[in-house]
Amino acid sequence: MKNMKAMDAVSYGLFVLAAQQGGKDNGCIINTVLQVTAEPNRIVFTVNKQHLTHDMVMETGKFTLSILSQKANFDLIRRFGFVSGRDTDKFAGFGAGVRRGDNGILQVLQGTNAWLSGTVLSTQDLGSHTLFLADVDDGDVLSPDSSVTYAYYHSHIKPAPSAPPAAPAPGGGSKKRWVCKVCGYIYEGEELPADFICPWCKHPASDFEPLP
Ligand code: FE
Repeated sequence: MKNMKAMDAVSYGLFVLAAQQGGKDNGCIINTVLQVTAEPNRIVFTVNKQHLTHDMVMETGKFTLSILSQKANFDLIRRFGFVSGRDTDKFAGFGAGVRRGDNGILQVLQGTNAWLSGTVLSTQDLGSHTLFLADVDDGDVLSPDSSVTYAYYHSHIKPAPSAPPAAPAPGGGSKKRWVCKVCGYIYEGEELPADFICPWCKHPASDFEPLP
């Protein structure tokens, strides 16, 4: 009996992956970072190709990872996770919440407990994502707060999907609603298209569930 709910037991963290290219700063939320060797100190991480930060890390080979702590709030995750750096400056108005590291890339100082910077060694095309293997060049601890896990995000940070219904569309009261289990985005319509991609977090229709 195949039960892929088993995948839900795999643990993840939450991180802001930041890059800098041609004077533009950008960052996105990722949940897959893993140290693979200590000598040399190397990590792997995966990034959805739809993120502008993906292209910037691919082209510059440089990045900084800020590790989210349990003090992170939903606004931080929304800022870096659910808008596109292609049309906004995600660091705008962040003020004292960031510091520029020696590699020229911004570190997030709010709602984080550490940062790591590194250099990409190789990449592997995974279809929707790219897997990056990288050397860790530098880093520092910012606070003693525990790192956030993906499960903690779902239980403590993400708003409950009980948000009031959006105003009904003119002339239509029979629309159904689906909520993205990852970020809380609500889709309204007759049917959720099978190829629907969440506009906030880029997760597929399979990560949506119907709302009563
Ligand atoms: Fe989503």
